[in-house]
Amino acid sequence: MGPCKEKEEEPPKCVWVHGPIIVGAGPSGLAVSACLSEHGVPSVILERSNCIASLWQHKTYNRLKLHLPKQFCALPLLGFPENFPKYPTKDQFVSYMESYAVRFSIRPRFNQAVQSAEFDSSCGFWKVRTQDVEYISRWLIVATGENAEPVIPEIAGMERFRGPVVHTSSYKAGSDFANQRVLVVGCGNSGMEVSLDLCRHNAVPHMVVRNTVHVLPREMFGFSTFGVVMALQKWFPLKLIDNFLLLVANLTIGNTEQLGLHRPKTGPIELKNVTGKTPVLDVGTLSQIKSGKIKVVEGVKEITRNGAKFMDGQEKEFDSIILATGYRSNVPTWLKACDFFTKDGMPKTPFPDGWKGENGLYTVGFTRRGLLGTTYDAVKIASDIADQWRTTKDCRTYCNSHIILLKNCNKT
Ligand SMILES: Cc1cc2nc3c(=O)[nH]c(=O)nc-3n(C[C@H](O)[C@H](O)[C@H](O)COP(=O)(O)OP(=O)(O)OC[C@H]3O[C@@H](n4cnc5c(N)ncnc54)[C@H](O)[C@@H]3O)c2cc1C
Repeated sequence: MGPCKEKEEEPPKCVWVHGPIIVGAGPSGLAVSACLSEHGVPSVILERSNCIASLWQHKTYNRLKLHLPKQFCALPLLGFPENFPKYPTKDQFVSYMESYAVRFSIRPRFNQAVQSAEFDSSCGFWKVRTQDVEYISRWLIVATGENAEPVIPEIAGMERFRGPVVHTSSYKAGSDFANQRVLVVGCGNSGMEVSLDLCRHNAVPHMVVRNTVHVLPREMFGFSTFGVVMALQKWFPLKLIDNFLLLVANLTIGNTEQLGLHRPKTGPIELKNVTGKTPVLDVGTLSQIKSGKIKVVEGVKEITRNGAKFMDGQEKEFDSIILATGYRSNVPTWLKACDFFTKDGMPKTPFPDGWKGENGLYTVGFTRRGLLGTTYDAVKIASDIADQWRTTKDCRTYCNSHIILLKNCNKT
């Protein structure tokens, strides 16, 4: 056999994008693309997955419904269908996203995971690389989300555990854990809902509560708690609203301290604004905790082969562990030489000014305000880029540069 000649690596294909490059085809990427097209500005969306809204399609559990009423989760320019319930299911949300993409003729480029993006000051363009293509544009819109990667905490002894350990991004339904003793690590909205789902499938969830947490009823006086907060914010100071929420919460769901769920000293809305930590909206978990079907346990000291040892000295056996430990942004892994983001991948400038950086950089969906924040960003970004698009006297300048760039790329 002759010597094996190594295949020469082909240079990536260069593609000039007429209009902005949007990274991510979640609700934020779709919203900004739709708003741009309303202004007559084309765009290209690069999406690592094989579908739109991949977080919702691939990484959420079956029983998930929107946490907030639909009027607070609609994307710009197209509301939810009237016949959808107040809290649409995940399938309804996905079908809304699909109709949205069709309505605005949005066709993302799928299976394009952005590996790096960098502003080239010598030519004034962003160079965005996926596994096989280099895309070039004047504008880069980051829409990869606050929830791009699951957070997997380091817990001593985890590698010893003999059963399955899954993050909520892979959890689908309690039926997979029927009759099991399950340790649920985390008590945010996901941890609470997963525990409830497990309970409904005769599993015995033990929910680990390491930190303080605000639990609020999802509705008060027949209105969504979120809606009440939005209305009150127009008239009253934050502290007063927080006191009001805590009073109503105490009256309706009772004192959560007695259940092992200690409240932070800072009120729920102030905490949300300062740290981004969302209060848990109760959808039935508390009554299962009260009835003893969901056990609340303190922090885990270590995982053992058959279960866990807790900080209070108790030791229990478990069949499975579910990590409801949240998500994080992945921007720092691919956006190079840019100090617009913190090391956690969030814009350094807080809401409402974090949507625009320098050199044609924009971010959508990093406001810690869910889909309402997305709408705010998308509208602003589209109008800002549209102004530049219109005032660019000669669009062909870009097209010509494109040809030059393509030639250069081919040379290297
Ligand atoms: C369980 C759960 C329930 C929620 N419920 C609500 C709710 O009721 N109301 C609400 O307002 N918000 C809710 N949220 C928050 C929700 O995540 C956002 O509102 C919404 O999905 C954000 O959209 P996004 O497009 O910004 O991010 P995502 O939906 O995360 O979309 C980002 C996209 O970018 C892609 N991507 C990431 N990295 C790359 C890369 N390097 N290259 C290419 N593509 C990439 C991802 O594959 C993904 O498709 C919920 C979140 C979770 C996890």
